[in-house]
Amino acid sequence: MGEIVLSQVKKSFGGVSIIQGVDLTIPDGEFVVFVGPSGSGKSTLLRLIAGLEDTTSGIISIDGKDATNLPPARRGLAMVFQSYALYPHMSVRKNIAFPLRMAGVSAQEQERKVEEAAKVLNLGPYLDRRPSQLSGGQRQRVAIGRAIVREPAAFLFDEPLSNLDASLRVSMRQEISELHQTLKTTMIYVTHDQVEAMTMADRIVVLNAGRIEQVGSPLELYRSPVNLFVAGFIGSPK
Ligand code: ADP
Ligand code: MG
Repeated sequence: MGEIVLSQVKKSFGGVSIIQGVDLTIPDGEFVVFVGPSGSGKSTLLRLIAGLEDTTSGIISIDGKDATNLPPARRGLAMVFQSYALYPHMSVRKNIAFPLRMAGVSAQEQERKVEEAAKVLNLGPYLDRRPSQLSGGQRQRVAIGRAIVREPAAFLFDEPLSNLDASLRVSMRQEISELHQTLKTTMIYVTHDQVEAMTMADRIVVLNAGRIEQVGSPLELYRSPVNLFVAGFIGSPK
């Protein structure tokens, strides 16, 4: 269960309108990518879904329930932060278990879920290391593991690979796509990178100045961009 529906969602900061009335339905299990230039509102839209920002108006529903005014912890979503958000003084095991410990889950249950996540992410041999003893890609997997143990209705990623080098980015893209195939959980992935959008998405949402220009599969956007902005951004010859 992980359908997310936005109805006329608007957000202003200090009277300046940043998200201009977004309508969007993300079906359960979809891998959707928000793409657009810097400042187009991708992060703000993701943070509104996560509950890290309050909407100025509009409705956000998750699993058929109005979540507009729920705090982040009660939305059942997991935001995957960049790998540097790990706790350096804790082992990988403790980093992954952290949200469970905060939620008061028993030690035994914590251990079971950590082992399960480590298996999916091939982190088994690294559970007793510190983040500083891991590669960039392994650290990113730990950050994802911390989200997996919460069994969220959806994973939210905000440019998770932007601080990795180019070759690692390519392999992590592949890993996140495989993770989606394994878990079949809704994923919302924010990037300004067209290649990432085209290779990872079931559907792409193209944002420009706080509005949706077009929503469609990579092929639809490539073949039938609605305007020059989308054509220019996706790189097809309209
Ligand atoms: P993107 O992630 O697409 O680069 P953002 O969602 O971060 O874009 O930002 C969209 C616009 O909203 C930018 O003009 C940014 O300056 C503005 N903005 C974002 N967060 C805030 C905030 N907390 N206060 C004021 N303006 C903000
Ligand atoms: Mg951003």
